[in-house]
Amino acid sequence: MCGCFLVYRQTPLTAEECTRERRNFHCVSNILQGANASALEKEIGPEQFPVNEHYFGLVNFGNTCYCNSVLQALYFCRPFREKVLAYKVQPRKKESLLTCLSDLFNSIATQKKKVGVIPPKKFISRLRKENELFDNYMQQDAHEFLNYLLNTIADLLQEEKKQEKQNGKLQNGSIESEEGDKTDLTWVHEIFQGTLTNETRCLNCEAVSSKDEDFLDLSVDVEQNTSITHCLRGFSNTETLCSEYKYYCEQCRSKQEAQKRMRVKKLPMILALHLKRFKYMDQLHRYTKLSYRVVFPLELRLFNTSGDATNPDRMYDLVAVVVHCGSGPNRGHYITIVKSHGFWLLFDDDIVEAVFLNKLKCRKSVQKIWETVVRS
Ligand SMILES: [Zn+2]
Repeated sequence: MCGCFLVYRQTPLTAEECTRERRNFHCVSNILQGANASALEKEIGPEQFPVNEHYFGLVNFGNTCYCNSVLQALYFCRPFREKVLAYKVQPRKKESLLTCLSDLFNSIATQKKKVGVIPPKKFISRLRKENELFDNYMQQDAHEFLNYLLNTIADLLQEEKKQEKQNGKLQNGSIESEEGDKTDLTWVHEIFQGTLTNETRCLNCEAVSSKDEDFLDLSVDVEQNTSITHCLRGFSNTETLCSEYKYYCEQCRSKQEAQKRMRVKKLPMILALHLKRFKYMDQLHRYTKLSYRVVFPLELRLFNTSGDATNPDRMYDLVAVVVHCGSGPNRGHYITIVKSHGFWLLFDDDIVEAVFLNKLKCRKSVQKIWETVVRS
């Protein structure tokens, strides 16, 4: 269950990207200081509008903001968008969630207008057809949807690879391993997958055993008045396994007290963090929302990495935040804030607005939105 999640992209940016971001940074600050134009296109201005970029809102088909907000976050996740658009070019395949997504992304990317609204009708009806969980007009969980979407795409791509192999289309080698783990990795894994390592140290014999686990996103617990960094630290805190939770040590051949901790072994290219704001309250017999203030940085470094992690100092840049506004898990509304070419934009179903975080004082409305973001 999710209240909010953040998408970080690995840095550094290329030199070209940096120049562009810096140029846009100044452009937006100038625009927002002087202008009060309401229309996004006017606000950004024709000169400054990023070339080949489109900012399109998505029509809500009855509580589909959970879907719209995730789709926008993914659209502005560049490596993901590029792969989805490239999929469109491939020979026509039978309709799937991925072909529908690819058609949707393509229709945004090829619009003549720079700003507008698009109905993601085909995608939504395909989604409702494929999974009964989403086949209704109720508010759904954005994080569950993200998970479902990424896993469905990965499964589709793996199935296609398998088919291609069976059809003998892969002629790039004489011997191919049947279940080669590398060949099973799809671009969804290349973009989002990281690896956690679960280390357990027996307190009797000191032997350490570790078990790896892949993830497409990281779910972290939230606490009042904290930061993402703090939440991530909590995620990797050492846990002592004792009494009925004792651990079976292979060395001692018996159940022993042990210390367990989880660390990141492989850092993903795109890091999706999910704040667990919806918590099951035993005494209430239902989920409630933890509306704690959790500060998140625009740049993030994961420090809870394992000793053998490759690239442990990798920096991440915040590219999108999906926010749940409202008091409980079964009501409320999802919006997304994304960073595109140095602009910060707010996507609220069919509405798209420019937001400029470093100039909060300029616009009270922006400040209000931002407060919602940090508190929800
Ligand atoms: Zn032991």
